[in-house]
This record gives sequence, C-alpha cells and structure tokens, in this order.
Amino acid sequence: MDKKNINTDVLVIGGAGAGMRAAIEARSQDVNVTLVSKMPAGGSSSTLMTAGWFTCSTAQSEEELFRQVVHIGGYLNNQELVEVLARDVTHRIPELGEYGVPLSENEGREPHKPGHYTIPSTPGHPRGYSMLHPMRETCEDMGISLLDNTAVSSLLAVDGKATGAVALDLENGQIITISAKSTIIATGGGADAFERNNTPAGTTGDGFILAFNAGAELVDMELISFNLPNDLLDEMLKTKQPPDRTLERGIAHYSLGGIKIDKDCRTNVNGLFAAGEVTGGVFGAGRIGGSAMADIIVFGARAGKTAAEYAKSAETSEQDIDQLNSERNRLQKILANDGEKPDDSYAELRSVLWKYIGITKTDESLAKGYEMLGGIKDRVMNLSGGIHEEWQKILEARNILEQGRIIAQTSMLRKETRGNYWRIEYPEPDNDNCLVNITAFKDGENIGTKVEPVKMTKITEAGNPPIGQGCFGYL
Ligand SMILES: Cc1cc2nc3c(=O)[nH]c(=O)nc-3n(C[C@H](O)[C@H](O)[C@H](O)COP(=O)(O)OP(=O)(O)OC[C@H]3O[C@@H](n4cnc5c(N)ncnc54)[C@H](O)[C@@H]3O)c2cc1C
Repeated sequence: MDKKNINTDVLVIGGAGAGMRAAIEARSQDVNVTLVSKMPAGGSSSTLMTAGWFTCSTAQSEEELFRQVVHIGGYLNNQELVEVLARDVTHRIPELGEYGVPLSENEGREPHKPGHYTIPSTPGHPRGYSMLHPMRETCEDMGISLLDNTAVSSLLAVDGKATGAVALDLENGQIITISAKSTIIATGGGADAFERNNTPAGTTGDGFILAFNAGAELVDMELISFNLPNDLLDEMLKTKQPPDRTLERGIAHYSLGGIKIDKDCRTNVNGLFAAGEVTGGVFGAGRIGGSAMADIIVFGARAGKTAAEYAKSAETSEQDIDQLNSERNRLQKILANDGEKPDDSYAELRSVLWKYIGITKTDESLAKGYEMLGGIKDRVMNLSGGIHEEWQKILEARNILEQGRIIAQTSMLRKETRGNYWRIEYPEPDNDNCLVNITAFKDGENIGTKVEPVKMTKITEAGNPPIGQGCFGYL
C-alpha cells in the first residue's frame, strides 16, 4: 500500500472499543475499511484501562435502564440515544463472544432490574486487553487495514461533505492523505487535557477538535465527570470554597459531552459519523458505572453500519487541493524541528485547564482560564519537534487549547450544579433555567454557541437530579 495516499470506503479514526467495533460492523457490510490509530489498535486507550464493567439490560429491564440513565444524567440526555442504548445493549454484549471476548454475567441481578457483565483480566495485562486483543485479531482476519501509531491531524471536507483526513505517521514523520467515502470518529474523550486524570496519556480530545474544525456541532462540552471524595465535594458546595487539597485530590475521568450525533451516529456534516466517548448527548450530566462500555459497543456498531451504507451510495470526491496543501504545510512546519519544543506549553495548557476550567471553576476562573489560553496560543501554533513524542504532543497541544476554550465558554453558560457538573457559586440544580443543551460550533475564528431547551421526548418532567463524583450506581 502506498502510505502517502490511501483510498478507502470507510475510514475509522480510533483503535479501541468504539473504533474497532465500528470497523468490524462496516467491514461485515462488504466495504473496504481503514482504521487509523494514534496508539496501536488494541493498545493504550481508556478501553484498555477499563475496570471491565458493562451495563446491561434484558427485554424486561430495558425501560428501567432507560429511566435510570436519564435520571442520573440529570435529564439533560438526548432520550432518543438513551432508548437505543437500553435496547441495543441487550444484543450487543452477548455478541462480543463471537469475536472471542470472554464475558461473565454478574450474579445477584434482580429480575426486571438492569445489571452488569464483566470481562475477566488476562494475567500480565490491563483488564481491557481481554476485549481488545480478540477484537484486533477479528479486524485483521476480516481484512481491515490497520495503521498504527498514526495520528489524524485534520479532516478533509468539500462542500460540507467529509472526504477523508490527513494523518501523520508518528514513527517516521510521513504525511498521509486518506480519501474516504465516509469517516467515523472514535477517538475517545478528553480527560488527559487536564493535568490530573486517570485516563491514559493521549486521551486529549483530538476528535472533538477534528470534528469542530470540519463544521460538526459539539454538545454540552462543559459536562465532564470528575472524581473527588464526596465529603470534599459536599464541603465545597456548602461553603462555596474549595477545601484544602481539592486540586491535589481530584481527577478528571470522562467526557460526558462531545460530538452531536443522531441515533444512527450521523453528525451534521455529510459523510461524518462518530461513536464512543467522543460523542455527547447519551449521558447528560452523569452516568452509571459500566454504561460507557455499553455505549462504545452499541454506538460503535451503529456507526459502522450507517457509515458503510453511506459509503455504498457515495462517490469518492476530489479533494480540495488548497485545503490539502495548507494542512501538509502546517505539518511540514511541525516536522521542521526549528521552533520551540512542546513540553513547556503542553504542561502549561493542562495546568490552566485543571486550575481554572476544572473541578474548582468559578465565573472568574473561567474568564481567566480562557484569557490565559489565548495568551499561549501563538506559542502553541509555532511549536516544532524532531521525534515521535514531540510531534504527538504538538498535535495534541492544539487540541487541548481549543478544547479548553470551548469548555470554558460553554461552562460560563451553565450556572448550576448537576450530576458531575459542579459550579462553586451555583451549588444547586436549576431546572428553571438550565434544563438546556449547549451546542458549540465553529464560527470563523470564534466559537459559536446555541442554548436550547432539552427535547424531553419520553420522560417529559425533570425530577431532582443527583449530584456526585465519578460514576453513579444503580438506584
Ligand atoms: C481507569 C478507567 C476505568 C474505566 N472503567 C470503566 C468500566 O468499568 N465500565 C465502563 O463502562 N467504563 C469505564 N471506563 C470508561 C471507558 O473505558 C471509556 O469511556 C471507553 O473505553 C472509551 O472507549 P472509546 O473507544 O470511545 O475511546 P478510547 O478507548 O479512549 O480509544 C480512543 C482511540 O482513539 C485513538 N486516537 C485518539 N486520538 C487520535 C487521533 N488524533 N488520530 C488517530 N487515533 C486517535 C487512540 O489511540 C485510541 O485508540 C473507564 C475509564 C478509565 C480511564
């Protein structure tokens, strides 16, 4: 294969749970599939680090699971997506066995109540290996082309239609153009954009910004799951002051918001689809432990199917040469190795996100954090490096910067505390004013926002939403 120019029917970006599930589904529809992954497919990722819990339901408990996901999400969820999750998960979990993933159903589940499955650990490996290793073998057996250690730096689009991507081979610095009839983003969340987190290095929200720059809408980017002992959280919300060592004890864990999708994983850009933690809308302001693993297989499969169907009826588009050359030039400058190295600004960005836009955010800190990110921008745009790790950090730094600006801007618009979203000055949920979804989109050089009432399609009355850290248990 000529690695400089690749042609494929379906391009999948991201080589973990959502991406590989999407690739397998697309390939089973008899189209060519190329999967590009910054880390090797099946390697370092949040899916690899999973504790192994999968939320599940049966035909009898589907309604109950739906109700609990919406309640725990603080009624901000896209309920159509939750209905799909609660229904499809019943079939999608047992199906993993077909790819050789070992699963055990937990005992003690009451009839008519949703429950969990788990995957066992494989000695000497993180727990997610027992899922990802057989999934990678399935991808290889099915003839899916895997490009490991390759970071997508930009999506390509012509006349509002996704046409592929430009990527950088992190091993040798080769610039790769991928022309695709349809593209699926499955790049995971952005918790590693914050200085303290429990996700693997590189979970920097790249897909949010790839999609945003290509014209896709992002929803509720301010909703991020943080972990902080509940006693500290209670004290912070009661006293309206962060207790001592809050910033030393907390961590970022999961991006609840993300790329806006419909129930077939379409974005608002033709030919562009998304699945997994990179998407928003399924979980609202909080989620049940185990539901993220359910989400990646349910929506991974859906994205693969929709993207394959789209590719079958689409022609390969000519690329916009100006757009392509501009991205190639941008990458050449990064590779030139003649400017500031990325380490300092990378650390500075993650520190700003953590201290000003993270757990302890206030109106004042958000404004300050936003301004500080603006102050680092010129440096970030001129970084340059000579080795794998530096190139990766430079690409990530731009995504962290833009993600931080979007989170700051959308957080300024949500003045309440709900689920895992905490605001020191606004310690209570505000159903009168904040039962809204906040959409962010690219508006020239600015970040445009829209604030719209949540479409409550099935549960039409919001209850009193929970507030807490990390993931919530079943009620
Ligand atoms: C410690 C930990 C424990 C967890 N335990 C559970 C649990 O028990 N149950 C549960 O439901 N959830 C759990 N979660 C959450 C869950 O694991 C994740 O939400 C889920 O695995 C995300 O899967 P994903 O495929 O969407 O993304 P990821 O697993 O994050 O994978 C993203 C992929 O995209 C690639 N990528 C990123 N950027 C680029 C780019 N620019 N170009 C190319 N490729 C790119 C990465 O290399 C990677 O392959 C846990 C998370 C953590 C961190």
